Amino acid sequence: MVVGLECHVQLATKSKLFCSCSTASFGVEPNANICPVCTGQPGSLPVLNRKAVEVGFKAALALRCRLNELSVFARKNYFYPDLPKGYQISQYELPFSEDGKLDIPGKTVRIHRIHLEEDAGKLLHMLGSTHLDHSLADYNRAGTPLIEIVTEPDLRSSEEAYQYLTTLKAILQYVGVSNCDMEKGELRCDANVSVRRKGETKLGTRAEIKNLNSFKGVRDALEHEFARQCALVEEGGKVVQETRLWDANRGATAPMRSKEEAHDYRYFPDPDLVPLRAEPDLVERLKRETPELPAQRRARFVSQYGLTEESAGVLTGERALADYYESAVEVCGPKAAKTAANWLGTELLGRLNADKKTILESPVPPKHLGELAELLEAGTLSSKLAKEVFAKMWASSASPKELVSQGMSQVSDEGEIAKWVEAAMAENPQAVADLRAGKDAAIGRIVGGVMKRSGGKANPAVVQKLIRARL
Ligand code: ADP
Ligand code: MG
Ligand code: ZN
Repeated sequence: MVVGLECHVQLATKSKLFCSCSTASFGVEPNANICPVCTGQPGSLPVLNRKAVEVGFKAALALRCRLNELSVFARKNYFYPDLPKGYQISQYELPFSEDGKLDIPGKTVRIHRIHLEEDAGKLLHMLGSTHLDHSLADYNRAGTPLIEIVTEPDLRSSEEAYQYLTTLKAILQYVGVSNCDMEKGELRCDANVSVRRKGETKLGTRAEIKNLNSFKGVRDALEHEFARQCALVEEGGKVVQETRLWDANRGATAPMRSKEEAHDYRYFPDPDLVPLRAEPDLVERLKRETPELPAQRRARFVSQYGLTEESAGVLTGERALADYYESAVEVCGPKAAKTAANWLGTELLGRLNADKKTILESPVPPKHLGELAELLEAGTLSSKLAKEVFAKMWASSASPKELVSQGMSQVSDEGEIAKWVEAAMAENPQAVADLRAGKDAAIGRIVGGVMKRSGGKANPAVVQKLIRARL
């Protein structure tokens, strides 16, 4: 399997690429954010959005690309009702950035190029809803700034494609290029796939798969397309270069159209826009502003907090999660950092996933998770009690310190525990006899009795010590 990916990423800017219309499109009336420029009215002229350029440059720097000193906007001509100008402003012969790299486990994927372009509008096909089929056009999205990131055909499995996408998303989120929410169309991906026999160096003919709207969809579509092309070649057939659509419900790809060629688009430099120059001062400033990237942050979590690679990988997979973790560690201190990581990775993420919530929607703020780790580290809470405390934190947003002061802390006082131990032993003479006879496992029954009496609050180590002292 040979795969190259083209990803369209919506840049996190307030306004569109060539006009001052807002990029907000969710919860907004159709065609509320439009103007003569983004609807292609005669005589209107585009003005390049400086912020979009900066965000695009940041993405290129984070993906270790070269920034071209000069790049040129080009018109990509085609007719479709979602494209009011009759052409899309993109970059063609001279993109702003080329030759990047992105590391996935076990390999470096080369990035061929990144260019800037504008998005098209959205069509709503109203089939059969009235006596006439018709389509509605919403131009809120028209002119939204995008970058297109094109890889070399370096990927060799659906798993590698999945790794590439996950890593790309994390990097772009870290740098603040985009939220990359696939459900909102902020990250869209086309996959180019071909097959060749083992040992063959020449590339096979590729099919381009569109309509991939989740990372899982990409993985499934690649596996399916790989099997389809293999079967075709084994039968002596030939793969044709075409665009295919992934149908997630059927779990299959189907031909959409024969692949368009570049000359079909009649590209030419847009005479309304001057070439874009990457000013050295700007590039230097953007380099300085590039934050710590996921791979560096993962390594730091391992060395600074003593986390395992795996746990550091999970916690740095998303910037918001890593930020949450570090806010919690600020509260609990480095000594409890590992405990905080464990409780975040298992209890909190477990509950968030079950409720389909993101870390930003967590009812438990980082400060509370930090306090919990601190109380565990100090022995004020046993892990059993901490689970109960955690359940209350989740349900009520109460802080663990408040909950502890309301009586949820662990009891370590020997005088108090001794009373429970005596009662539990008196209640269970058989277990005491078994213990005396050397059946050590019997101690669990007495400990259980103590826990019941203490409401789970007795410190188990002290309980064991006192039982043994009485034997
Ligand atoms: P187009 O606009 O025609 O899709 P692009 O240059 O934007 O062309 O993208 C081509 C994509 O296809 C790149 O990601 C590239 O790595 C990939 N690709 C090219 N040839 C092959 C091939 N034989 N097998 C798989 N992927 C390929
Ligand atoms: Mg393509
Ligand atoms: Zn506009």
